[in-house]
Amino acid sequence: MYRILEHTMINLVLFGPPGSGKGTQAQKIIEKYGLVHISTGDLFRYEMSHDTPLGQQAKAYIAKGELVPDSVTIGMLRNKVEAHPDAKGFIFDGFPRTIAQAEALDALLLEKGTAVMALIALQVHDQEIVKRIKLRGATSGRTDDSDEEIIRNRISVYKNETSPVFDYYASKGKSHSVNGIGSIDEIFGRLVDVIDQTAVAARA
Ligand code: UDP
Ligand code: MG
Repeated sequence: MYRILEHTMINLVLFGPPGSGKGTQAQKIIEKYGLVHISTGDLFRYEMSHDTPLGQQAKAYIAKGELVPDSVTIGMLRNKVEAHPDAKGFIFDGFPRTIAQAEALDALLLEKGTAVMALIALQVHDQEIVKRIKLRGATSGRTDDSDEEIIRNRISVYKNETSPVFDYYASKGKSHSVNGIGSIDEIFGRLVDVIDQTAVAARA
C-alpha cells in the first residue's frame, strides 16, 4: 500500500457562518492534532490593530461586513502558509470565503505537494448566530459584532458568496457537516469523529 504525498498532511477547512464557533473549535482541534491555525479574520484584526498598510486596506470592507478583495486575502494567506514549512497540517478558519479563494488555496497546496483533506461545516441557524455575535460584541470590542445591520450583511455575504465553497469541495467528495448546536465539548466530539474518519480514509 502506498501513500500519496498529499495525504501526509491534515489540512482542514473549518467552515460555517459568522458566529458558528469556528475560532473556538479551531483552538481545540490544533491542541489535539498539532496543526497550525490560520484565521484570516484574526490576521486582518492584527494588521488593523497595528495600522499596517494591509490593515488599512482591509478596514473599510470589514467595517461594512463586506469581503476584503480576494487578491489581498489570498496574498496574506500564502505568506502565512509559507511561514510554516514544517507544519503537520493547517486548519483554515474563515478562509476560503469565495470560490476564487478556494481555487487559489487548492493551487497553493498543490504547489506544496499537498491538498485540503476535508471541509467541515458547522451548522447553526440564523437566529442563534445573531444572538451569539451580539453576545460576543459586548466584550470583543469588534464593531462588526455590535451592529445588527452589519451582522445581517455578513450573514447574507456568507449565503451568497461563501456557501458555494461547500459545494465546491462537496463535488470533490470532501465536504462534511456537523451540528453546531450544543456544548463546546459535544461539538468538538462531532468534529473529531469526522477528522478521524477522513484521516483514516485518506491513509487507506
Ligand atoms: N474577512 C474577509 N476575508 C477573510 C476573513 C475575514 O473579508 O478571509 C472580513 C470580513 O469583512 C468579515 C470580517 O473580516 O466579516 C470578520 O471575519 P471573521 O472570520 O473574523 O468573522 P467570523 O466569521 O469568525 O465571525
Ligand atoms: Mg472567527
